[in-house]
Amino acid sequence: MVVDKHFKLFSFSRKSVMRIAAVLKDRCQPKKCSMECIKYCPRVRTGDETIVIGEDGKPVISEELCVGCGICVRKCPFNAIKIVGLPEALETHLVHQYGKNGFRLFRLPVPKEGNCIGILGQNAIGKTTAINILSGNLVPNFGNIDGESSWDIVLEKFKGTEIYNHFRELVDGKIKCVVKPQYIDGIPKILKGKVKDVLRRMDSNGKLDWITQKLNMETMMDKEIRNLSGGELQILAISAAMIKDADMYFFDEPSSYLDIHQRLNIARTIMELSKNKKVIVVEHDLAILDFVCDFVHILYGEEGAYGIVTHAKPVRYAINSYISGYLKEENIRFSEPIEFQEHPPRERIDSVPLVTFEKLVKRFSEFELTVESGTIRCGEVVGVVGPNAIGKTTFIKMLAGVIKPDEGKIDKKIRVSYKPQYLSGETEETVAEIVMTTAEKLITSGFHKAEIFDALDIKNLMEKSVSSLSGGELQRLAIALCLARDADLYLLDEPSAYLDSKQRMKAGKVIKRVVEKLGRSALIVDHDIYFIDMVSDALMVFDGEPGRKGIGKGPYSLHEGMNMFLKNINVTFRRDEETKRPRINKPDSYMDRKQREIGEYYYCMY
Ligand code: ADP
Ligand code: ADP
Ligand code: SF4
Repeated sequence: MVVDKHFKLFSFSRKSVMRIAAVLKDRCQPKKCSMECIKYCPRVRTGDETIVIGEDGKPVISEELCVGCGICVRKCPFNAIKIVGLPEALETHLVHQYGKNGFRLFRLPVPKEGNCIGILGQNAIGKTTAINILSGNLVPNFGNIDGESSWDIVLEKFKGTEIYNHFRELVDGKIKCVVKPQYIDGIPKILKGKVKDVLRRMDSNGKLDWITQKLNMETMMDKEIRNLSGGELQILAISAAMIKDADMYFFDEPSSYLDIHQRLNIARTIMELSKNKKVIVVEHDLAILDFVCDFVHILYGEEGAYGIVTHAKPVRYAINSYISGYLKEENIRFSEPIEFQEHPPRERIDSVPLVTFEKLVKRFSEFELTVESGTIRCGEVVGVVGPNAIGKTTFIKMLAGVIKPDEGKIDKKIRVSYKPQYLSGETEETVAEIVMTTAEKLITSGFHKAEIFDALDIKNLMEKSVSSLSGGELQRLAIALCLARDADLYLLDEPSAYLDSKQRMKAGKVIKRVVEKLGRSALIVDHDIYFIDMVSDALMVFDGEPGRKGIGKGPYSLHEGMNMFLKNINVTFRRDEETKRPRINKPDSYMDRKQREIGEYYYCMY
């Protein structure tokens, strides 16, 4: 039972419990159910009004009358209700609540000048809400959902706390905040014209040359915004935030669509900015979060119901806590641990080849791709790493027979199921309708339902229209549909985009299981090193000059491939002693020099 789970989780006595009831409005479908919540609630049956129907036709649950039996939670066919017991002491830390039975946020991250502060947590746990409050875009109501909220009340509430000065300066107009939003796909609808013209208009302090050089933007300056790739749009969004003269900068998921070279470059620029500004970063690529932040606030709780912000912890300690799923000071286990391999994994699996290719060459007017000969084996997941615009998609299209190589041969035609990098969710159809219309192309065995659709939690999305899905929800749907098609080779281009770090690990496990159990193969193009590390059995490495010349090599064993790739991008990783997770070495540090010397760029414990 939900409440009992939380009693156990927090280990406190029943007396000190406050009960919260959350109705997830985007899941609740009163027209498609028989109002099971009301029908079966024992309190309603005895005649009181524990659950009534609200103005929008959806249930409204009284937290005062509810006895926490959890029957409505189990009976709701759409998993739209959460009843949770929390320590009563938390009540005084409630910062914001989105209406009755709406999401609650407890505590806030604290910005600090001269530090880069990270926020780490799953999706729908309140990260954007916290950013909106700290940047002055949302006045918190402290749970007073029917009354007035104002900045005066905010100042009164935070008097004497660490965060008071931040709000004082914000309210007095002494600090200016800039936010790089999470989603960047909509930028072409708002900003029109050439990149350089748009940035010039924003540049009130002569920072254009600095930002162009820092973010390597020379080649995109003359492009029209409507023609930019996802990675270029991300760089534009980051540069548009950095070019403004502000005191505080928020970067909500700055790494999506960027290759690892670009991620590291953005991270270094954010670090430079944070030397004399306040900077807050939300990021799910843990290697990058680890690299860029000084301190991290973990946000834990229940998706859509409540989120609790922890105190700031040093970055290494915070990420280790997060991946272990356990908060020591708070004595709270909030999820399963993620495990990393300390030593190089086994050599490539020795199974039958799926497809073998000779040296392939493909020429376009301005780009030439060469791929050295190689073999993809049945039952193996091949990670594909390399910069953007280096020919990875072109290679895949040759494998799928969509385009023909100018030189070289592929030994047979294979069936490829493809998930593109950029996803379009512009349809009013529901997820259930999309699954139904593609059903004849999907395998609908028990294995597929359990290991793909249930594992990726698609069930809870079924009634939503595709256009209303968040980036992470759309990504999970696209991965599920790709894996459920009958194919020899699954190709997933950047499946980690918009997924939180736990969802990334889950998606990685799903891909591995489908490939292993069904004896198929997969090529996974991704830039999150932790994700590539956990999902891949082998690695293909692309290198060259983006947009001009690409060279693809492999597949290699993960050990050999990682060393080659990291040598190309000039970065070494050591292993964290406690969790064995990879950590980027500071350039020219003892470990960095030592690892370069022995040629061990990735698997080094000492
Ligand atoms: P995150 O950034 O961690 O993904 P958000 O802060 O965006 O989380 O959202 C946390 C929860 O609050 C989600 O369940 C979301 O649906 C809900 N929420 C966000 N904005 C609103 C709003 N304006 N009204 C009602 N609920 C909201
Ligand atoms: P990646 O998948 O590594 O990002 P792509 O294979 O999509 O790279 O593209 C590599 C380069 O080839 C890019 O510069 C792209 O503009 C160019 N390119 C891809 N397809 C074509 C085409 N059909 N005609 C001309 N140029 C193309
Ligand atoms: Fe009713 Fe509360 Fe039980 Fe739900 S948990 S059925 S609202 S008493």
